[in-house]
Amino acid sequence: MFMHNKRLQYTVRVAEPNPRLATMMLEQFGGADGELAAAMRYFTQGLGEDDAGRKDLLMDIATEELSHLEVIGSIVAMLNKGVKAQLAEGVMEEAELYRTIGASGVSAKEALLFGGGPSLMDSAGVPWTAAYVDSRSEPTADLRSNIAAESRAKIVYERLINVTDDPGIKEALGFLMTREIAHQKSFEKALYAIEDNFPSGKLPGVEKYANIYVNTSQGEGDVQGSWNSGPQWDRIDDLTETMPIDGGDGTASVALQAGDAKVLEKMSARTQSDTSVDPLTGVDLGAGPGAGRTTDGDQAGAPNIEAAPAMAEAAAKR
Ligand code: MN
Ligand code: MN
Repeated sequence: MFMHNKRLQYTVRVAEPNPRLATMMLEQFGGADGELAAAMRYFTQGLGEDDAGRKDLLMDIATEELSHLEVIGSIVAMLNKGVKAQLAEGVMEEAELYRTIGASGVSAKEALLFGGGPSLMDSAGVPWTAAYVDSRSEPTADLRSNIAAESRAKIVYERLINVTDDPGIKEALGFLMTREIAHQKSFEKALYAIEDNFPSGKLPGVEKYANIYVNTSQGEGDVQGSWNSGPQWDRIDDLTETMPIDGGDGTASVALQAGDAKVLEKMSARTQSDTSVDPLTGVDLGAGPGAGRTTDGDQAGAPNIEAAPAMAEAAAKR
């Protein structure tokens, strides 16, 4: 069960309201790398987890992320205090309120629809979506995704810290950022506590393809390093010689049922290209300066010129 403690995980001291900054902070409230996404990611993974250690870890971190959601949401609420009251009470002159909100950089949606309260959207007003959670119920895949999610969240906090000079906000964001570092460490440990954690899942890779590096982007700028060259890699530079890699003919085929094969043959015949013709088209009739080379209607092999005089006449009348 969940219980609520009225004290925040970290004290929020905001020097003065700043609606523009509040909008930026929403990125970590309802954004892709924000606290709600993190909490839901670990909570749902924890519910489905069978390993006692990972379940405990996921539930601990999920609950801490909800506490972070509370901290960042409280920062948003404090930064919006003045604007929220002005919107609600309508005491300012209309023009003055319009100017105040316009100059604050708050989105119209945040102001008009959500009234300046913390809303589950990102800094551009895009609503939170469960699509931010990419769990696959396979710990060796999910833990890697969690590690990446924590490192993304750390970076977004770093950027938010760089856009404010409010010492109280800087301090609280510094705490939240640091917790994402700690979470990343826990997830790394949990991943390596699984003895065979690479490759993810159960099926092994096909041995003869596992060490191949395919140099598909060639030309100036080709760089060799440990990621594509050296003892771990069988590097392929001559693509035309070695493809298809399985030694087959490189075509795609399927065994069709007799009925389907017949219909397919009819369809192919109906839409077949005639490579022997050079037809006159609307492009030729309407061609003006800049049209490039066009088809000469008098030339042999252009079979469609019966239609041309009428079309040319129509074109001349335009
Ligand atoms: Mn967090
Ligand atoms: Mn975290």
